[in-house]
Amino acid sequence: AFLKMAPVATAELSTAPAIVEAKKSVASNAAAEPPSAYTKNTAILHRTPYQPPTAVSAEGLYFTLADGSRIVDAVGGAAVTCIGNGNPVVKQAIKDQVEKLSYCYNMQLTNEPAEALAKLMLEYAPGAFEQVAFVAGGSEAMEAAVKLARQYFYEINQPQRTNFISRQLSYHGNTLGALALSGHPSRRKVYEGILNHDSFHHVSPAYAIRFKKAGETDEEYVARLAQELDDKFQELGPDTVIGFVAETVVGATTGCVAAPKGYFPAMKAVCEKYGALFILDEVMSGMGRMGSKMHAWQTFGDNVSPDIQAVAKGLGGGYVSIGAVLMSPRVAKGIREGSGYFFHGHTYQAHPITAAGSLAVQKVIKDDDLLTKCAEAGEYLASRLRATLLDKSSIVAPYVFDIRGGGLFWGIEFELGEKKTPKPFGALLQAKTMEKGLIIIAMAGSLEGGKGDYAMLAPPYNVTKEEIDTIVRIFNESVEDLVKEYL
Ligand code: PLP
Repeated sequence: AFLKMAPVATAELSTAPAIVEAKKSVASNAAAEPPSAYTKNTAILHRTPYQPPTAVSAEGLYFTLADGSRIVDAVGGAAVTCIGNGNPVVKQAIKDQVEKLSYCYNMQLTNEPAEALAKLMLEYAPGAFEQVAFVAGGSEAMEAAVKLARQYFYEINQPQRTNFISRQLSYHGNTLGALALSGHPSRRKVYEGILNHDSFHHVSPAYAIRFKKAGETDEEYVARLAQELDDKFQELGPDTVIGFVAETVVGATTGCVAAPKGYFPAMKAVCEKYGALFILDEVMSGMGRMGSKMHAWQTFGDNVSPDIQAVAKGLGGGYVSIGAVLMSPRVAKGIREGSGYFFHGHTYQAHPITAAGSLAVQKVIKDDDLLTKCAEAGEYLASRLRATLLDKSSIVAPYVFDIRGGGLFWGIEFELGEKKTPKPFGALLQAKTMEKGLIIIAMAGSLEGGKGDYAMLAPPYNVTKEEIDTIVRIFNESVEDLVKEYL
């Protein structure tokens, strides 16, 4: 019945022949295992797809579980805990804020930590942004980005602009607008029938290692993708397009895939040609995750700043539930000279405790020089991964298709060739590392023939060399076990 409800998007997403709809079940995503354990365990009273161990406390990247055992989190939840758990500065800031002011409604009052945090956010990229709106997470940030972009054109008297162009194999969040934007078949599947197919359209991802043609240079590949975007504008009617939306570095669908050099300048140029907005989703890849700089787009050399940007995860570092939308001067001016304010509002927006916690996380990043440490630790992690997984004598090397990333955001993509595993390799790997006391994210790929299973590592920016050694050792042993068992 679900498939019958979804003819439009299925056709649209299948225009890229190598990307397949997850036909059998949503369980092709390792994070959405079949709910057998879930239904068996009626003691679990909140949403979780399987019975996980219970975390009782945490320090740095170690969780202590209810049975007293400790496990290592190599992916910061989902690239969230950027300074590790239990930081005394953040804990104190949250306690102090609870004592002072626990809540005020941002439609009626603002508060000191929210204002200080907004000021800091603008300082991270001088000139690029003029205003900030706070929300409670990544999906909300993308939802707000979509609404802000639409409101901008409404304000400047271009109400005919109703279309967004985003990319296949993208993930922008699980609320309806963000999911309509997302090009991730297995996450969309159940909801296709109620997603908005009129306003949300998709073009190819920038995923060179899989989709660059044989003999094609990076420049030619980028030119092809820019032409595809231009063609999509033409197909929809250039003056009907609100904007092009992309993750600066793709996270949850393909694992830390950065675009080839020149891609973002080329895509932004197409947007500018037609007066549309260039919108970046840095919910996962931003707030220092790529090392050296706060925003991922600042790390690429070409420094192409967006008209609108969403951030979340690392903004609160897991201590508080926060996301934000950043507005460029162009967008802020449009809103200011129109209605005067962004219509979007939530009860818990710019929450004082949340803002105080986030501000403290940002203070720790600055005081402990964690952007530099993230870049350095990332280089070490990458070198250890390459040395271990790609070693000539390694039994896992034949199955490692790619190791890519930056900062502390690393993806390892697998390719099994003709070999098969009883469940997607990514799902097996995630379970195997957990058995050995290591949390990672690993997923089944969305490519034809089950290709593209990947694992993601994203430890906190203050991870030590010893901790990296442990992560790589357990990760490698887990892959080795699976190779011995199934391949
Ligand atoms: N956008 C991107 C790029 C993400 O990776 C995610 C989550 O993984 C989201 C949006 C949604 O964020 P949240 O889970 O905080 O709602």
